[in-house]
Amino acid sequence: MDVQTTVWQAVIPRFSEVFGEAFQLDVSLSRYTSARVGGAADMFLSVHNVSDLQMAVEMAYAQNIPFFVLGGGSNILVADSGIRGLVIMNRAREVKFRNTGFSVICTVESGRNLSSLARQCIAKGLGGLEWAVSVPGTVGGAVVGNAGAHGGDMNGTLVATTIWEPGEGARIYSNEELAYGYRESILKREQGEDVQRRVVLIAELELKPEAVDVLMARADGFTAHRKQTQPGGASTGSMFKNPEHYYAGYLIDAAGMKGFRIGDAAISEKHANFFINEGEATAEDVRALIAEAWHAVREQFGVELELEVELVGDWQFEEDED
Ligand SMILES: Cc1cc2nc3c(=O)[nH]c(=O)nc-3n(C[C@H](O)[C@H](O)[C@H](O)COP(=O)(O)OP(=O)(O)OC[C@H]3O[C@@H](n4cnc5c(N)ncnc54)[C@H](O)[C@@H]3O)c2cc1C
Repeated sequence: MDVQTTVWQAVIPRFSEVFGEAFQLDVSLSRYTSARVGGAADMFLSVHNVSDLQMAVEMAYAQNIPFFVLGGGSNILVADSGIRGLVIMNRAREVKFRNTGFSVICTVESGRNLSSLARQCIAKGLGGLEWAVSVPGTVGGAVVGNAGAHGGDMNGTLVATTIWEPGEGARIYSNEELAYGYRESILKREQGEDVQRRVVLIAELELKPEAVDVLMARADGFTAHRKQTQPGGASTGSMFKNPEHYYAGYLIDAAGMKGFRIGDAAISEKHANFFINEGEATAEDVRALIAEAWHAVREQFGVELELEVELVGDWQFEEDED
């Protein structure tokens, strides 16, 4: 047993004592990701309020245990060999609304499901989140990745967010401090770096009063458009970001990759930027499909696509495709 494993073994009783049955060992993550692939987390904890979320990351940080915050698992591809350390599944969901006179501030815990929040706002006659009615995942995941659709995004709605910083504790970030760009933020840029990441605890969104039927009609239009253009089934949504002046789906399609499959992972016939798990696909099948599509597009159009989805966990990249 190496030193690291000994340290982890030593903290297990402490996590069990504090969090009870919400803390488990060796939990398969495939059922918690929208692509339905991926191996197990060494340690797994589900939290239902931000105090527990913050306590969990602080305990892990203090013991030098790597941790990963899991939202809806709709923008990640977890390796077949799983994730080392602690995975914290965030289900902190409290929501409050405060009227400022000219707008309404929604203060929401980061584990809240984004699309259900959007529906709640619409029902209350509050506009600004209609774009999110069919976007899977949590508020926290959306804050990190600047989720957006139909011309709207988190950048346009979020005024501030409370973030836990490793070694520093919680502090409020303004929208500007997140340095938002297309499907990215200062937080997303930390991905892939070997550092403990910042954790989104609470988001504050600004909404504007509007007639419920107008908001509902807008949201229904977005949902209908999505149904028409995107496939159902287990996927991570758009696999690649759209490069400047192009759509990634168009390039993959034009490279002749629609319908291409590896194992049970297939590039959708309906939308080529969606990679579907049609049954028993492994994460490695999906990764190999990503590599095929990336190379086909580069070869035919000289465009190097950038992943929108994050590869997380223990990936072994021995055989480089080049
Ligand atoms: C069918 C389908 C359609 C989609 N359509 C869209 C779309 O229209 N627009 C769009 O933008 N996206 C879309 N997506 C992608 C996905 O829904 C978004 O990226 C979403 O915001 C991810 O949120 P999540 O909670 O699932 O994040 P996860 O996948 O769980 O995590 C993503 C990253 O965020 C981090 N993270 C999550 N929560 C926190 C937190 N509280 N603090 C710190 N880090 C955190 C994770 O550690 C990870 O690095 C789609 C996905 C699917 C499956």
